[in-house]
Amino acid sequence: MDYEIVIGLEVHIQLLTKSKMFCGCSSDYASTPPNTHVCPVCLAMPGVLPVMNEKAIECTVMTALALNCTIPEYTKFDRKNYFYPDLMKGYQISQYDAPIGKRGWLTIDSNGNKKRVNITRVHLEEDTAKLLHRGDYSLIDVNRSGVPLMEVVSEPEMSSPEEARDYLIRLHNILRYLGVSTANMDEGSFRCDANISIRPVASKELLPKVEVKNMNSFKAIYQALKYEAERQGQVLDEGGELVQETRGWIEEKGMTVTQRTKEYAEDYRYFPEPDLPPLVLERSWIEEIRAGLPELPEARRDRFMTQYGLSLYDASILTGSRTMADYFEDCVRLTGPGKAKMASNWLLGDFSRLLNASNTEIENARISPKDLADMLHLVDNGAISGPTAKAVLEEMFQTGKGASDIIGEKKLSQISNAGEIKEVVKQVMADNAGPVDDYTSGKQQALTFLIGQVMKATRGRANPGVVREIIMQELGGK
Ligand SMILES: [Zn+2]
Repeated sequence: MDYEIVIGLEVHIQLLTKSKMFCGCSSDYASTPPNTHVCPVCLAMPGVLPVMNEKAIECTVMTALALNCTIPEYTKFDRKNYFYPDLMKGYQISQYDAPIGKRGWLTIDSNGNKKRVNITRVHLEEDTAKLLHRGDYSLIDVNRSGVPLMEVVSEPEMSSPEEARDYLIRLHNILRYLGVSTANMDEGSFRCDANISIRPVASKELLPKVEVKNMNSFKAIYQALKYEAERQGQVLDEGGELVQETRGWIEEKGMTVTQRTKEYAEDYRYFPEPDLPPLVLERSWIEEIRAGLPELPEARRDRFMTQYGLSLYDASILTGSRTMADYFEDCVRLTGPGKAKMASNWLLGDFSRLLNASNTEIENARISPKDLADMLHLVDNGAISGPTAKAVLEEMFQTGKGASDIIGEKKLSQISNAGEIKEVVKQVMADNAGPVDDYTSGKQQALTFLIGQVMKATRGRANPGVVREIIMQELGGK
C-alpha cells in the first residue's frame, strides 16, 4: 500500500538573554558549576513572585514577526501543571490560549519546489532544570531552571522527512539572523520534537501520530523521521495497528523505541498564571521591533543575486548562515562589486574546503575578510597565479599571515616578465625535442605538454598566458 506522510514540528529555542525568564539569575547555565545560578524564584521557594523578562518578550516578538505571525494585543501566561523532578515549582509558566505570535508561515525550498509551511504559534515559557542520570541515582542542576524558552509550532503540513529537515534549517537560519538564540543543537538551545503519522494516499482518515524525541542534529531528525515513516508503513502492511505514543531516537542503533504510550491527551490543568498580569503589547512597540528587524535570509539571497550577479545556488549557500553572508559582504566592500563573483568562488570553493576539513566556523577563521580581499587583489592583478593562490590561501588559513607576506617569504610571486620566461622556454624546448617536433607537425596536445614543463620548471610561478604566447612565438619562428 502507498502511504502519505504527515509531519508537524515543535521546536524549543533558548533565548539569548542575560538573565532568566522570571528572575535576575544569569541565564548562562552551561558554562558554570551546577547550582550556582539560582535564587529563591527559580528554586521555587514559597512566597516568591516572578517578574517578566522584557528582552525575552522582545526576542519572541521579533521571531514571530520574522515568521509572518499576527501579534495579538492581549497575551498572557498560563500555568501548565505536571510533576517531574526537573520542574521545580510543579508547574511550568507557559502560554496556552493566548500566545505572543499566531498564524504565521515560512517558505521552504525542497528540491527547487517552493512550499509555504504554516506556523500555528510562537510562544514563550521557561526551561526546566537539568537531570543528570548516573546509574541508579540522578543529579539535578537548577542553573537551567527558568531560562527563557521559546516554542515554535508548525502546522502538520510537511509531507516528507526532507521537507521537515528543510523547514528546520530555514527556521534555524532565521533565528541566527535575528540573533535571538545561539540555536546550537548540540548544546540544547534548539531542540525539536516531531509528530509524524502516515495514511493511505488520498485518504482523509487521521491515524494515530507518534511523537519522536531525542534528536540533536538535522541529520538525526531526518533519519528518525525516515525510519519512523517506514516503521509505521510496515506495521499497517502487516495488518497491525498504530498507537499514539512517544518514541525516542536511538542514534547508535538508527531506530526509534517506545518511551511511553498515551491513549488520551495529558491533562495539564492550564489556568491563567495568577502571579503575573496579562501582557498587553503596545502596537507602537511592535512596529518599532518590526522596523528594526534585520534583513532575513531569503531577502538577502535575492539581493545577492541582483546586486552581485550571483547564481541562485551560490547566493543560497552564502546566505545560508549570517556569518558567511556578512563575511562575503565585508570582503566585497573592500574588493569592489566587480570581484563579487570571484570572492564568492573562493569562499565557496577553497575557503569552505579548508573550513570543513578543520571543522572551523568562518567567524573563527584566521583569515579576515580584508586578508581575503588582499589576496583576491593579488590574483586579479596577476601578481600570483591561480594555483599559487590556492597554496597561499592554505598557508594564510594555517598561520594567519597576510598573502603578501607569504608571497614575499616564499618568493611565490608570479613571473610575468617575458625575458625571464623566455629563458625557461628555450631550456624546455632544448630538453624536449620530441614534443617540439610533434607540435610543428600539427599535434596540438604537444603545446599543452610544453606549457606544463615550463610551469613545472618555474614551480607554478610563470604566468601561463605569457608562457603560451612565448612558446607559440618561439615555435612559429622556427
Ligand atoms: Zn533565579
